[in-house]
Amino acid sequence: MSTALVEVEELVKYYPVPRQGLWESQQYVKAVDHVSFTIHSGETFGLVGESGCGKSTTGQMLVRLLERTEGSIRYQGTDIGGLDRRGMRALRRDLQIVFQDPYASLNPKKQIGWILEEPLVIHRLGNREERQSIVASTLEQVGLDQSYLKRYPHELSGGQRQRVGIAAALVLNPKFIVIDEAVSALDVSIQSQILNLLKELQQSLGLTYLFISHDLNVVQYMSDRIGVMYLGKMVEIMDVAQGSHEPLHPYTRALFSSIPRVKPIAGERILLQGDLPSPVDPPSGCAFHPRCPFAMERCKQDQPQLTPHSTGNMVSCHLYEGT
Ligand code: SF4
Repeated sequence: MSTALVEVEELVKYYPVPRQGLWESQQYVKAVDHVSFTIHSGETFGLVGESGCGKSTTGQMLVRLLERTEGSIRYQGTDIGGLDRRGMRALRRDLQIVFQDPYASLNPKKQIGWILEEPLVIHRLGNREERQSIVASTLEQVGLDQSYLKRYPHELSGGQRQRVGIAAALVLNPKFIVIDEAVSALDVSIQSQILNLLKELQQSLGLTYLFISHDLNVVQYMSDRIGVMYLGKMVEIMDVAQGSHEPLHPYTRALFSSIPRVKPIAGERILLQGDLPSPVDPPSGCAFHPRCPFAMERCKQDQPQLTPHSTGNMVSCHLYEGT
């Protein structure tokens, strides 16, 4: 049986909105609103949804680049939100992130060898010779030879830079990596090389991924399970590895049916009406109800809960209660 590596419970991230005047009550952007899910050791958990749905905020809280407002994130049973700097420093090696734009996270004034060695220096790992050996073998793991050690980030192509970004995440020998839109800025042919590299690394190093993307094709290719977020909430979790990849939630069905490259799904195409509502003042009841073609009267009042469905999915929709 698979072991839970990361357990997220009722996770919340609210940002206060600057008040226009003293008389105005405090409002919050509800970026992540009571989200719960578990990531098992060795799996890839995909996270999809429209821009602004809270998926990247969730990912950054999981590696504690962002502090939660409420809720818990347990890594191997330890609530990382309760750790002080010292406790977090010890865990930092295990928890890494790869960003969409590695150029922004790579120091443009430093050579790749220096960039990759820096985390080892910060964590006081090995002597100079040992660190250089780790850097060289990590570079090799991502498909780059020793000549890249002396190059600067601006001398690399987008794909090579993303390989360095992955190497920077790998150099501390982590167990869990958040991969946040890591191939979104790359050409399609380069995308597939990077995706395959990530899969190979997962196999050979026993890594666990949270894979965040707005691209459903990419998420389907990479993930064992897929979580779908809408307006800060998790509305569906599909167990793709177990064959449960028929979306149930009307929002998930709309997302999947709108992507021409995805294998057509049963039923009619669902067109999403209107824009994403404001996360400052989300709709009452089911937040999707103003855009949902199946909305019922009770959807405006009652917020559905994420519950197991007989297909193996977890779904948050009144249509499936008791099914
Ligand atoms: Fe649509 Fe109602 Fe289901 Fe929300 S709960 S997705 S509004 S049918």
